[in-house]
Amino acid sequence: MSPSNDPMGPPDGADPRRADVAALYQELILDHYRRPRNRGPLEHADIALRKKNPLCGDVVELQLRFEGDTVREVSFIGEGCAISQASASMLTQQVKGKPVAEAVRMLERFTRLVHGDAEAAADPSLGDLRALAGVSRLPVRHPCALLGWTALAEALASRA
Ligand code: ZN
Repeated sequence: MSPSNDPMGPPDGADPRRADVAALYQELILDHYRRPRNRGPLEHADIALRKKNPLCGDVVELQLRFEGDTVREVSFIGEGCAISQASASMLTQQVKGKPVAEAVRMLERFTRLVHGDAEAAADPSLGDLRALAGVSRLPVRHPCALLGWTALAEALASRA
């Protein structure tokens, strides 16, 4: 089937590559929401921080275990919208096993991505988190995307 005959294709004039990326990103967010990574309580956690986003009803509790200067284990428990839960799931995937300094850098990069920084949105070190770049255009959802990260910021500050 040629693209022009595809009823599910992008409308005339839309950049099909951009539409494909948006669909892929949407799929990644839903995948993390439906099959969260590193979800559940952590045994022997050094720190547990629970954060709420009253605007949306989201809750994320982040649990971490450190080994020297490394985030050895990280998990989360929570409930709420797809953006808050997918972001927390992606967070655990990205910072697990990383040195604290690298986790701090990721926190800064992701915060810039949420606030619309195009360079951060293209940073391969952010992995699946890049799928949340579209949130930058929805200021009311910024607290959802950053909820788990506010917990991470406090947890990392406690190690500094
Ligand atoms: Zn939310």
